[in-house]
Amino acid sequence: MKRICQLLFLSLLVAGCASKPQVKYVFYFIGDGMGVNEVIGTNLYNEANGLGNVNFTGFPVVNFITTVSANSLVTDSSAAGTALATGTKINNGVVGVDSDGNWTPNLTEWAHAAGFGTGVATSVGVNHATPASFVAHTASRNGYEEISIQMIDSPVDFMAGATFLTNRGSGHDAAYFEHKADSAGIAIFKGPGAIRAMDEIDYLKPRVLCLSAKEEDSIPYAIDRKEDDTRLADFTDAGIRYLESRFGKKGFFFMIEGGKVDYAGHGNDAATCFQEVNDMAESVDLALAFLARHPKETLILVTADHETGGLMLGSGRYEMHPDRLARQHASVDAVTDLFRDAFFPEGKPVKTPSWDAVKAFFNEQLGMWGDVEVSERVEKDLKDVYTRTFGKEGSSLVDANLYSVNYQLVADVIRALDRAAGYQWSFGSHSGSPVGLYVTGACAEEFNAVRDNAEIAPLIAKLAGYAK
Ligand SMILES: [Zn+2]
Repeated sequence: MKRICQLLFLSLLVAGCASKPQVKYVFYFIGDGMGVNEVIGTNLYNEANGLGNVNFTGFPVVNFITTVSANSLVTDSSAAGTALATGTKINNGVVGVDSDGNWTPNLTEWAHAAGFGTGVATSVGVNHATPASFVAHTASRNGYEEISIQMIDSPVDFMAGATFLTNRGSGHDAAYFEHKADSAGIAIFKGPGAIRAMDEIDYLKPRVLCLSAKEEDSIPYAIDRKEDDTRLADFTDAGIRYLESRFGKKGFFFMIEGGKVDYAGHGNDAATCFQEVNDMAESVDLALAFLARHPKETLILVTADHETGGLMLGSGRYEMHPDRLARQHASVDAVTDLFRDAFFPEGKPVKTPSWDAVKAFFNEQLGMWGDVEVSERVEKDLKDVYTRTFGKEGSSLVDANLYSVNYQLVADVIRALDRAAGYQWSFGSHSGSPVGLYVTGACAEEFNAVRDNAEIAPLIAKLAGYAK
């Protein structure tokens, strides 16, 4: 009888979701480049390091969605971001404009028109492709100038990110756009101290913009984080406090992007990638605490725009050893900086270090040739790169990915470490693999039927009663 009552109650709830808007607060998390294997890979990494599973992998709804764009089976972040934000498939490289040149209305516009508060936050540039897809409409995702102006002129209540990315040669720097935002009446908070100190008086400001205090296009990777660095969780926490204070009665829509899972995928750096997934999960925890306070009216979705790097679980043998990533405490970018300091202090080597000295460096930074044994074949390949690095090619022997340029040797040693741990990268760009959709809270079951990224935004709008 109890079971029948439960079922009846559940079906009434579901029927309620379908018939009238139930959802007041929406949290929409996007892990850029966070494919299924990046998430499961993080769980394996966490288990080997004594950490728990990624929180959203335990959500009641776990689903898979396709990510194709209008003109390619392999999407980029702006086309996928636009599909996630508007429900319309557009071409790669475009933000919020369809193939006929029409602007595609998005969730923040729908929510705002219905009187809800709106927010976007990211760990990368505030005007980078994903947040831009939720606010702006431009022919190119690289039109940072236009995107910045549209974001400043938009009605979005809360915005957060590392900085305003700018176009070289435009004559405008990030400070120019901060000044424009300030002139538009947007209150600006920079750095963790100012952001955490936001209080009731600040919550009365008509619009808020949180930025990193440092000159950086993205906030540092979690694996490289220093005490005074801004965290994605600072942005998320500030956004929740501000939006709840101003729109607690009516409700709000809040998109939060973990933007650097993608960067680590482009750089083929597994430990860094997994710590970025964990870092976004820290922000998901804040949303879960909000859900605990407003259980019947809060919907939390976690998904990704696409997978990056073609990450495999397994590297050719019937075994994995995620514990072997435990000694890596810096990203490929940061290990490159340390390598430069150690061996190229003046831009060229002071003297050629011995192969043993280089191996000792990688043992200290990554555990290679220490806890992690290196086979003869792998060592031969790496030693060849070492010989070239300290030969004619010198520091020009680099591994350039979309977001950073690293020493070939450093990048190759980290790929070898990942392979030894059982993680194999296929390439440094996006794949067309499906991504996960993880949902909890009010009306979460409705997302069981979703199969493609373009189906999410219209369903959120329907469940929350946004004006479309
Ligand atoms: Zn990417």
